[in-house]
Amino acid sequence: MIKTSTSRSKKQVFKACTNCKYLVSRDVTKCPNCGNESFTDDWKGVILIIDPENSSVSKHLNIKKEGKYALQLGV
Ligand SMILES: [Zn+2]
Repeated sequence: MIKTSTSRSKKQVFKACTNCKYLVSRDVTKCPNCGNESFTDDWKGVILIIDPENSSVSKHLNIKKEGKYALQLGV
């Protein structure tokens, strides 16, 4: 199941992994999804992945871990 919502990138609570777009809180230094250590505040939109094993969208986006992902980076 996938829920989407829009949100602005300014003053975000979360930052987005530049590799897989996984959203983490600001104190996280390493992406729990892909291990990347590079993040950006320039992201827009949220995809909430609840069941990545059975989601065609998560396969398309190379998502293996449930959680929140940014729709778009570099806005
Ligand atoms: Zn990542």
